[in-house]
Amino acid sequence: LSDKLEATFKKLAGQATINEVNIGIAMRDIKRALLSADVNYKVAKKFVEEVREKALGQDVVKSVSPAQMIVKIVSDELTEIMGGENKPLDLNTKKLPAIVMVAGLQGSGKTTFCAKLAKRLKKNGKHPLLVAADVYRPAAVDQLKTLGEQIDVPVFALSEQDALKTAHQGVDSARKNGNDVVIVDTAGRLQVDEDMMVEAEALKDQLKPEELLFVVDAMIGQEAVNTAKVFNDRLDFDGVVLTKLDGDARGGSALSIKQVVDKPIKFMSVGEKVDDLDVFYPDRMAQRILGMGDIVSFVEKAQETLDLEKTRKMQSRLLKNEFDLDDFFDQLQQLKKMGSIQGLVEMVPGLNKMIPKQDLDGLDFKPIEAIISSMTKQERATPEIINGSRRQRIANGSGTRVQDVNMLLKQFKEMKKMMGSVTKMTNSGRKILPQN
Ligand code: GDP
Ligand code: MG
Repeated sequence: LSDKLEATFKKLAGQATINEVNIGIAMRDIKRALLSADVNYKVAKKFVEEVREKALGQDVVKSVSPAQMIVKIVSDELTEIMGGENKPLDLNTKKLPAIVMVAGLQGSGKTTFCAKLAKRLKKNGKHPLLVAADVYRPAAVDQLKTLGEQIDVPVFALSEQDALKTAHQGVDSARKNGNDVVIVDTAGRLQVDEDMMVEAEALKDQLKPEELLFVVDAMIGQEAVNTAKVFNDRLDFDGVVLTKLDGDARGGSALSIKQVVDKPIKFMSVGEKVDDLDVFYPDRMAQRILGMGDIVSFVEKAQETLDLEKTRKMQSRLLKNEFDLDDFFDQLQQLKKMGSIQGLVEMVPGLNKMIPKQDLDGLDFKPIEAIISSMTKQERATPEIINGSRRQRIANGSGTRVQDVNMLLKQFKEMKKMMGSVTKMTNSGRKILPQN
């Protein structure tokens, strides 16, 4: 029993620090996460500084802990930077068809995206036409045709290698055949290239697309930002499609691109199949970027299981040295509800460093609970009165031995001392104070 108790006390001490997030450590971890998610260094640095300021100035509302508060500020800020809400395609036009044009490097996923978008629009009651204006490689035209067949959407192509002519005739054909949206696939190069840019500019000038979308592979990391900037300088596109987010890419380029070109990211491509297209939601991407810890589930779990109000009361009782066995019992109940505190701790950036790692799963609270349950109310409030005969009675009542009761009382006393100093220590060092 003794070892287990010791573990419990350590665990409780750990829990007390859940509310004492050291913002410096948290921010350092967050910055690291941003960098490993491919966020541009300058963007990450600026972001962390802004969040720190915001967090420091902010009152912590009563119902959440400082840890949750920091997490929320960080993910809100990320969401905001990435546009707040999804910006849908704007296909309003006085004269049909509406035109969507894509641009981007070769291999970024333009052709695949065109088909995915066509399928999506069709599902929404539109009648799209795909136009194969990537005229230089026969394989590119075939690829679009194959995809068109697969989703049962017509594909317009010419045998001539003339992108502008193909595009114009494609639009005419759409008008004739009642297609209300034209999606123009274009040629890319492996690198930013003058010929490619000139052609894309010409297509844009002549077609005047309702939506010119820049398609970029999230896997190319930092390079995505530079490419986005070059394309935006030349084409002033309307939105971004981030592709290959099904891979290892953690989506940091979404943040950097948005910061650098200030254009909304409208879609994200998450696989090779025609259904693997998602609308881009900044809040979800924020979570993904913060993938170092499952932030959202932490907050949810904490809200569900941790009675923060109780914990806070207990802490203030601790400070006043009023912590008693009833509080201890409450804490045990909370720990039990929460399952493994270690699991919880690991979900929060920064916290995992502050709380010693130990495997506390499977810890048996039953004897402790039984002992405390066997005490009278008065005994729990003032354990000092528990003399020899009371100890014997409690042991009998709880099915434990007197030694176990003794041990619990002794450990409780030590814990109370220890928790008092932990609370004082962390209180003096912390930057964000919960309101009481
Ligand atoms: P384009 O040269 O810009 O037209 O690029 P493609 O559409 O031909 O795509 C290049 C390659 O990337 C193809 O093999 C696609 O199947 C693949 N691809 C496109 N989008 C995605 C994606 O979201 N995830 C994955 N895993 N592969 C993709
Ligand atoms: Mg292509």
